[in-house]
Amino acid sequence: MIHPGKMAREVLTSLFRKPATVLYPYVKVQMPDRFRGKIKFTSPLCIGCKLCMRDCPTNCITITKVGDKQFQAEFDLDRCIYCAQCVDTCPKKALEATAEYELAQLQHDKLKVIFHAEPTPASSPAAPAEHAPQSQPAIGA
Ligand code: SF4
Ligand code: SF4
Repeated sequence: MIHPGKMAREVLTSLFRKPATVLYPYVKVQMPDRFRGKIKFTSPLCIGCKLCMRDCPTNCITITKVGDKQFQAEFDLDRCIYCAQCVDTCPKKALEATAEYELAQLQHDKLKVIFHAEPTPASSPAAPAEHAPQSQPAIGA
C-alpha cells in the first residue's frame, strides 16, 4: 500500500510535469529521421529487378514494366506493414520510407497507390535536369 504522503507528492509532481502526449491532430509530432512511414517510389531510378517484390513479407508491391526501361510501382497499403524491407533491398535506392504516417482511410480503394512510370533522363533528353524524380500516387494522395 502506498503511503498517503508519498501519493500526495506523486500527484503534485504530476500536476506540474510536462505531459508526455500532444493534442493530436492539432499538434503533430516531428518524426525521427529513420521513421518508416509511407513508401515512396522514384521511377527513373528503378531497373525493374523486382527484388523488392521478392523480399516484401506481405506481397504488397507490384512492379510493372510499362515501356522501355520504364517501371511503375503499385502498393497495397492495406497490407503494407511499413517494415521498410523493400527500401533496404532496392539496389538502386528507388524506394524510400517517408515520414508520412496519416494513412488511415475509410475507402478501401484509396489504399491502392500507384506511382506511374516517368521517363529516365537517358530515355528522354528533353526532360529538364532538375526535374524532381517524384511520382504521384494515382489515388489517395
Ligand atoms: S528493388 Fe528497386 S530497382 Fe528493383 S524493382 Fe524494386 S524498386 Fe525497382
Ligand atoms: S514496407 Fe515492408 S510490407 Fe511495405 S511494401 Fe515495403 S517490404 Fe512490403
